[in-house]
Amino acid sequence: MRLLSARLIVSLIVGVTLVSLCTSYYQVFVQNRGLQKDLQRRAEVLGESLARNVERDLERDAQHNLQRTVQQYANRDHLAGLAVYDPQGHPIAVTKSIEPLMANARAVAIVLQALKENHDADTFLRIGSASLHIYALPLHQGDELIGSLAIVHDSGYIRQESLRIWRETFLSALAHVVLIVLITLLIVRWSIAGPIARTAHWMKALRTGRGAVRIKVAGIGQSLPLEWEALTVHNAADPLDDGTNPLGREPRFACKAVYYNLYINEFFYRVNPCCYLQQVPGFEEVRLDGDMTFMEGWNSPGMVELRRRLAEGPLFGACMRCPEKW
Ligand code: SF4
Repeated sequence: MRLLSARLIVSLIVGVTLVSLCTSYYQVFVQNRGLQKDLQRRAEVLGESLARNVERDLERDAQHNLQRTVQQYANRDHLAGLAVYDPQGHPIAVTKSIEPLMANARAVAIVLQALKENHDADTFLRIGSASLHIYALPLHQGDELIGSLAIVHDSGYIRQESLRIWRETFLSALAHVVLIVLITLLIVRWSIAGPIARTAHWMKALRTGRGAVRIKVAGIGQSLPLEWEALTVHNAADPLDDGTNPLGREPRFACKAVYYNLYINEFFYRVNPCCYLQQVPGFEEVRLDGDMTFMEGWNSPGMVELRRRLAEGPLFGACMRCPEKW
């Protein structure tokens, strides 16, 4: 049973973890794509709005204006800074805070690519501990290429967002695993282990000839500690009693089944009055599962009523149709 529980728990843990990992991977992938596209779109919009001013400053060779512009747009809503280059890719004006980053060969490469292809280009880069998005677009004076503008965003927040999702996934998977283990243990204990153990015990007792070991036989006349009312909660009326008596059975009907035999359901330890009745109609079923002695069950209201009716009538519906003569 322990092996079964362990296998069940391990399978469930592996299953839940795998599902959580796949779901989170997909969630992170979709979110990253969304955030990256959003950042690319913002860079393009900013590039379009700035390009004209920068081109004008380049035409006038207004270095001071250029430096003021690139400095003015630093540290705004994930915007790390701007850089303006000449047609050969040499920096003309760069936001001070990103100067060391823009000296990196991979950053320069994207600017050179935009100049070479005369078309905008962008890339996500990790330089040292910084995560960057660089969007480079060519600048023109008429049809002539006069330089390039690079818009640099800090894309670290995308990575932070991914880490947040993974962290939440881990915690939620951990909570699920703990819950699943607890629920599995309870289910195994209540629904499988208990009944199997009782059945095994019962079968062992039958094999060893001690089938009645669980029944605490008390002396006749012992006072009943049970509340009789608790056993007289009436169920639905006798389902077989349709007012007819097809076999013409009358008290005293010589039924000895309930006197000579003890019918106990092996799974629930329910006392069946006979082969045909699982419980006395109109009365709660009786179980010898340790809560009552045999004599308490034998003298429970339903059993007393059954014996009385067999002796005095009226018979229960099942008795009126009982195919056996005991
Ligand atoms: S159903 Fe038959 S065997 Fe069962 S108690 Fe009634 S008469 Fe007896």
